[in-house]
Amino acid sequence: MATPAKLEIQHISKHYDVEGRPPLQVLSDTSFSVEPGSFVSIVGPSGCGKSTILRLIVGLDQDYHGDILLNGQRITGTSLSRGIVFQDHRLLPWLTLERNIDLALENSRWTAHQKAKAVREHIELVGLSGFETAFPHQLSGGMAQRAAIARGLVGQPEILLLDEPLGALDALTRVRLQEELLRIWRAEGVTMILVTHDVDEAIYLSNRILVMNANPGRIVREVDVNLSNRSDRASHEFTSIKREVLD
Ligand code: ADP
Ligand code: MG
Repeated sequence: MATPAKLEIQHISKHYDVEGRPPLQVLSDTSFSVEPGSFVSIVGPSGCGKSTILRLIVGLDQDYHGDILLNGQRITGTSLSRGIVFQDHRLLPWLTLERNIDLALENSRWTAHQKAKAVREHIELVGLSGFETAFPHQLSGGMAQRAAIARGLVGQPEILLLDEPLGALDALTRVRLQEELLRIWRAEGVTMILVTHDVDEAIYLSNRILVMNANPGRIVREVDVNLSNRSDRASHEFTSIKREVLD
């Protein structure tokens, strides 16, 4: 079980330089924090910078202004303490499920025995026992996303970032995987940050919804989700979020 982490995003600004064009300011002085062990969703119109934020938090892009703190420490580069799952599974087609997940531990200092144990446990955690030696093309879309979740968690991260992980799945598979995410969140005690287009999914899964705007890209609203408002998805508050997310 991982130790859940507190994440603080402080005054983050980010632009992209595209040759022959003025710089594209994607994030502008945005701040928010995520409590240890919570399940937070980020919703907002497409292109507002949601994936960019996750890439900065996971450390894939270090070209930004501001501070990202995990348990009070400034993050540097990628690390096993931050796992990520994308919309497309990004499994390597020439490697078995087992090897794909093991690859995430490449830079860890664990022994071969510890790695093998973690891989086995995480394949089991996502319900893929028996498919260790299957290749990605032999897995359904839902199974491939389960594998991607196992890969995101195998390093026992303090925080798991999910970038529209269920967006490409059919409705039934999506519902099943939503239940899996909740179960895993409760079992692993990991802080989760989910980017989703589906406000109902955010209401169902998370404790808190961060609403993001474009131009400038920043978090403009934070709504706590609890027992009393979760049951009323048609409430004024949630309806207005749905309106803001539509692009
Ligand atoms: P979202 O995930 O909310 O849809 P993104 O973070 O993917 O938004 O992108 C925000 C904006 O930045 C978009 O206008 C997108 O086209 C642009 N963008 C994203 N990545 C790059 C990149 N590597 N180079 C240039 N522009 C980018
Ligand atoms: Mg995106």
